Amino acid sequence: MTETESFWLKDMIVLGQGAPNQTRKLDGRQGRCLCLWSDKTGFVRVFPVPFGYVHDWEIINVEVRKPNDDGRENSFVICNYETEFSNLSKRIYTQKEVTSKGNKINKKLKRPEQIALLENLSKSTFSQTRDNSKSFGLIKPKTLMLLLKQNKETSEAQTTLIDQDYDIMNQNDFAFLPYLQYECDGPCSSKHPHEQKIVEWGTYQWMRQNPNSQEHCMKLKDNYHIGEENYLHYLLIGNHKVHIKTYFVVKLFRFKIEEEQNDYCV
Ligand SMILES: [Zn+2]
Repeated sequence: MTETESFWLKDMIVLGQGAPNQTRKLDGRQGRCLCLWSDKTGFVRVFPVPFGYVHDWEIINVEVRKPNDDGRENSFVICNYETEFSNLSKRIYTQKEVTSKGNKINKKLKRPEQIALLENLSKSTFSQTRDNSKSFGLIKPKTLMLLLKQNKETSEAQTTLIDQDYDIMNQNDFAFLPYLQYECDGPCSSKHPHEQKIVEWGTYQWMRQNPNSQEHCMKLKDNYHIGEENYLHYLLIGNHKVHIKTYFVVKLFRFKIEEEQNDYCV
């Protein structure tokens, strides 16, 4: 079998994007990994996506096939990405809608819809996600803390800890690595609290401004509004390509609660 059949994933909501990383099959050009969700498919991972094609919360269609080298459930690659990477606009695009003024805009979940979706998806705990071999899980933490750990990883250790999908380039440039410590709300058989490394791209973009300053890196806590009562948090966790029982925090969602209540017209 040389050709794998392609098919369309439609009405997919973009929940998160991994850090850009170089892809061998693309001569070192950078692609990102997307986490998508739909009612029909649940969570789906799609790789590699060029920068700027789609954005968080947009509703997209994408033509995919099963990858040859990724056994995780619901993992797909974009159809013909090897040859069409410079223009994938026929394979992946955001749906459009027309506003009341007649403008054509990208279709995107509105803020109350975002919160409603996350609330609805965050019914499981970490152990339920892991023990069911789920590739992604969404968790509403009962407690949440940011930890910085000294980066002691050798490049050898990194190959076992870092997934190609979430590779943070030149991780050795960072003196600290960000972790979230959290407890699930609900039945979880795993030892509490959990501790998982954040692999969200924006986190490293922030730390990069002053990577050796613990004080600067600790401001991530403020950026994420951790420990602030008027903020809702949800964790999107995803597993490692090889070590499938190991999970990272792909994204930390946060919403200010009072804004939500007044947010009828956005
Ligand atoms: Zn738990």
